[in-house]
Amino acid sequence: MDCLFCNIIKGNIPSYKVYEDEMTYAFLDINPCSKGHTVVTLKKHYENFTDMPAEEAGALFATVKVIAKMVEEAVSADGSNIGLNNKPVAGQTIPHVHVHIIPRFKGDNGGSMHSIVADPKAADDLEEMAELLVME
Ligand code: 5GP
Ligand code: ZN
Repeated sequence: MDCLFCNIIKGNIPSYKVYEDEMTYAFLDINPCSKGHTVVTLKKHYENFTDMPAEEAGALFATVKVIAKMVEEAVSADGSNIGLNNKPVAGQTIPHVHVHIIPRFKGDNGGSMHSIVADPKAADDLEEMAELLVME
């Protein structure tokens, strides 16, 4: 398959590998938002997060958990943003599921999840949303 991250995982394209186990592979982002910006992937190709099986999402996030702590400590970060862009409308440019670990430093002038998008009408129908989204 002609997928950039599959090729990085297979070693066909070089990367600065941070961690690897049977199911996951983590490497430095080539265009980092901050020092230590790391991307964690599942070796198996899934295009987006919402299409992957829960068990494999679990394996992906088990690695994220370990690597986030390691990265924060390694670069002496004060925290990190951990998340993924799910599908192109949300900013996903590489169609192979990956989680970003972006170290954060006091005074770095960065934002939070709330700086991604801000619909002023989003709070108008919280009750309706709760009814729509609740899982029995
Ligand atoms: P997305 O925008 O899909 O959530 O994230 C893709 C990420 O992959 C971007 O942050 C981008 O900088 C990174 N990236 C794109 N091409 C390469 C590459 O060839 N090598 C590495 N290490 N990172 C890449
Ligand atoms: Zn892939």
